Formats: sequence, structure tokens, C-alpha cells
Amino acid sequence: MAISFDTNHKPVIGETEKLENDLVVITADNASPMTFTGTRTYILGTENLIVIDPGPDSEDHLSSIMKYIGQRQVTDILLTHSHIDHSPLSRQLKTETGARIIGFGSADEARTSFMKKLSSSLELGGEEGIDKDLLLDEKVYEKQILKLNNYSIEIVHTPGHLSNHICFSLKERKILFSGDHVMGWATTLISPPDGDLGSFMSSLEKLSARDEVIYYPGHGKPLKEPRKMVLAQIKHRRDREKQILNSVLKISRTPAEIVDEVYVDLNPMLKAAATRNVLAHLIDLYERDKVSTEKFSQTAKFSLSNEN
Ligand SMILES: [Zn+2]
Repeated sequence: MAISFDTNHKPVIGETEKLENDLVVITADNASPMTFTGTRTYILGTENLIVIDPGPDSEDHLSSIMKYIGQRQVTDILLTHSHIDHSPLSRQLKTETGARIIGFGSADEARTSFMKKLSSSLELGGEEGIDKDLLLDEKVYEKQILKLNNYSIEIVHTPGHLSNHICFSLKERKILFSGDHVMGWATTLISPPDGDLGSFMSSLEKLSARDEVIYYPGHGKPLKEPRKMVLAQIKHRRDREKQILNSVLKISRTPAEIVDEVYVDLNPMLKAAATRNVLAHLIDLYERDKVSTEKFSQTAKFSLSNEN
């Protein structure tokens, strides 16, 4: 059965939506084919507040957030990852509120050595949408428990979409802020060298073993059956891998040629993203000796490896 996504989402931009007694979300004014209905900024707490992913550099979004905050104190700003639709507004919000900014590290913080090697080649491309001015007051690590206000927040490192991507778990409430790792409207973009498909699959496996019952993603609606979605996404990527291997079975092909063959009914605006996703698969397959290539780029031909 094909994976099913929920694309029926019509948030009122800039308005506060209440999700739980102590949790609201405000949608930023940056809707696009890549950001869906806009970045979702979560604000946790009743007196002292924690802001998760302030969003893009937008004066309007900042004023919507400040309007909700009112006279209350913001103690912490948590960042799932450093893409320009998630982290830039953290700096202005810090200036306004004095809160500290917490995240995993720089965009290439946890890159694998193979990705580091590939990233030195200019042919690979990628690095789109990175927040180059990222500023962190505190770096966190896998399984760290942050005691913030009255909350215990567990750090779940989920590299793949970006190597510094983390999710935040409110463990006793079984809530996970899943950022761009798992969303309900689409699978996430994996664009090498920032995106790493092998890491992404491991990060999905990691979540499949956890027991959170609701995910609040960086874009789109909450996920009410998150484990089902995690498992469906694992299967979806494995199926995609099979299609890619089939596509290069008889003739070597470029990532774009593979996209034309295996993506059915693709929105033309998403072709570039799909091509990056296919390149991510091909690099992962190369690392596992399944395909071979002369070079790593979008225009390179990939073929089935002789080991197969
Ligand atoms: Zn992102």
C-alpha cells in the first residue's frame, strides 16, 4: 500500500492555535512547495516560556510571537536544525527576550566522514537553505535531558535531513517535536552532503523504537499515529531504493533520468528536490557497494555495481 500523506491543512498565518493546555503553535508566513503551509513555531509553558523553532527572518512572524508572549519571560529557544526556515529568527527573538539559544551544533557537526569527503567536491552541489549565521548559546547531545522550567526534555539526535537535526521529547507526556525529520504532509528532503540517507534511515529506526504518541512537526498538522507514519516512511524509502536499482539495472542513468522514470505524477516544482533525494539514495547505495559511478554529481551516470 502506498504511503498516505495529509495535505489538507489551512492554518491562519500568524494566529495562535492552542494544542495543549501549555502549548500553542503559530504558523509563519513562508508557505512554499518546500515548506508546505509555513514553518510551525511551538511555544511551550504558561508562565515562563520555551520557543521551539522561531522560524524564518520575518518581522511579521516575530510580532505574532511577541504578541503571544506579552509580558511573560522566554527562558529558552530550542532549534531542531539550522535551515533558514527554522533558525534565523532565533537571533532577533533572543535580542527581544534575552532567552538562550539551544541546538545540536553547526550544520556539518555530525556529518559522516564519507559525506565530509564528498562535500569537498564542488560537483556535488547541495547546501541549499543552510542558516549560515547560526548562533548557539548551548550545544546539546544525544539522550541529554534538559531540565527547563518544569519540563524534562530529552534530546533525540536524528541526523539525515541535516546532520545537526534533533527532535525534542517531552517524555512523560509522550510528545515529540519532530522538526523536519518526520512530517505528515510529505517525506523530508534529503540533499547531500547535508542530507544523508543512511543516517536518515537509522534515525527513522530510532524513532520506530520509541513510544511517543503524538508528533508536532516543523510543517503541517500534528501526527496522531506517528509510529505508523515512521514505519510507512521506512517502507517508502526502501521501495524507492528498489525502484532506483531497477532503473539502473540495464543502463546507467543520471539522477534526473531516474526521477523521470520512477516518480509518478511529480509536481514539476518539486523535480529539483526529487533529484537531490535520488542522489542521496545513490550515494547510500554506493556506500553499500550496490551502485558504481565515476563521480558524485547530479549529472553523473550511475550503474549497477559488479558485485550485484
Ligand atoms: Zn529543514
